[in-house]
Amino acid sequence: MTDHSSAQPSSRNLIIAIDGPAGAGKSTIASRLARKLGYVNLESGAMYRALALKAIERDISLDDEAALVKLAEGSRIKLEPTIGGNRTLLDKQDVSSRIRERDVTEAASRVSVHPKVREWMVEHQRAMGAGGGVVMEGRDIGTKVFPDADLKIFLDADPVVREQRRMQQQRIRGEVAADVAAELRARDHRDRTRAISPLVPAADAVVIDSTSMTEDEVLQKIEELLQRKLV
Ligand code: C5P
Repeated sequence: MTDHSSAQPSSRNLIIAIDGPAGAGKSTIASRLARKLGYVNLESGAMYRALALKAIERDISLDDEAALVKLAEGSRIKLEPTIGGNRTLLDKQDVSSRIRERDVTEAASRVSVHPKVREWMVEHQRAMGAGGGVVMEGRDIGTKVFPDADLKIFLDADPVVREQRRMQQQRIRGEVAADVAAELRARDHRDRTRAISPLVPAADAVVIDSTSMTEDEVLQKIEELLQRKLV
């Protein structure tokens, strides 16, 4: 019998990438998975959101790539996992709630199209996840940030279902719901069509369509995939 143990990744230090469009369930799944594994859950989108917030506060154009990079270089954006969930710190200030608001959501999507902004983000995200033991979620984790991730999931769902989930999450109804759905579609389109690191599954990602799956089922499927990696 051959002993493969030295070639096995330790279950303690894997890098798990979860990419996919908004509303597919990435955040919930990533945080539940990280908790189960005793891993850290890093939401890369929160970094784009924090930079977008700072740009709004400083009245910096979301189209001015050079100014945005300069802004990023002068910022401290920290993702801090806590028992109650993840906190995002921007220059030591807790901006976790503020960055989820609509204006920041829209601005983050616009900030993220700039190649040099993405370079800055990717470099910092790599540094944060380098030690392993992380579930990192975003749009380009499997394709760009960690192309050698131990497990890559691309979590997708029917667009209508994604919109409905987002409405439920945010308890939005009526006219605002229609606006928010339209914004989600626009952000999706921007993510999928941008010139650099567009939202696509990595060639070696496992695509999970969660349209008619429960969260528990998605989680179970990922855990099975992980088990297969470890045996
Ligand atoms: O995931 P979340 O919705 O918080 O991300 C906010 C925005 O940041 C997204 O709309 C997307 O445009 C961008 N993003 C990205 N690459 C990532 C994570 C987020 O372009 N890895």
